[in-house]
Amino acid sequence: MTKRKEEEVGLSRRDLMKTSVKLVVWGAGVSSVLTACGGKKSSELDCTDTSGLSGPDLTMRNTLKYVDRSPDPQKLCSNCMFFNPPAQQGCGGCKLIKGPINPKGYCTSWAAKPT
Ligand code: SF4
Repeated sequence: MTKRKEEEVGLSRRDLMKTSVKLVVWGAGVSSVLTACGGKKSSELDCTDTSGLSGPDLTMRNTLKYVDRSPDPQKLCSNCMFFNPPAQQGCGGCKLIKGPINPKGYCTSWAAKPT
């Protein structure tokens, strides 16, 4: 952009660069805050849609305190004896509770898969 055009528009190249840097820094900050608050990254698998479950199935899921992210990295649905892995990548199932099950999830009925 020529100096004259910059003056006409009211923005200089330097102003544009400063604004771009501020936007990048702001975006990184928002992302960090969301992660720190327990927000999931958009790339993380989400198996929390229980809209198709009946009342009793939802009650069972809540009674066993299913969570989509295990608090214990040693106890995951993926290494639980009740886990039904998905045919491809995605949510799996469980022999005890209905609905989508995250391989990284957990509930109070976790039992180690026999080796
Ligand atoms: Fe996951 Fe609990 Fe089912 Fe085991 S019993 S697969 S920990 S939901």
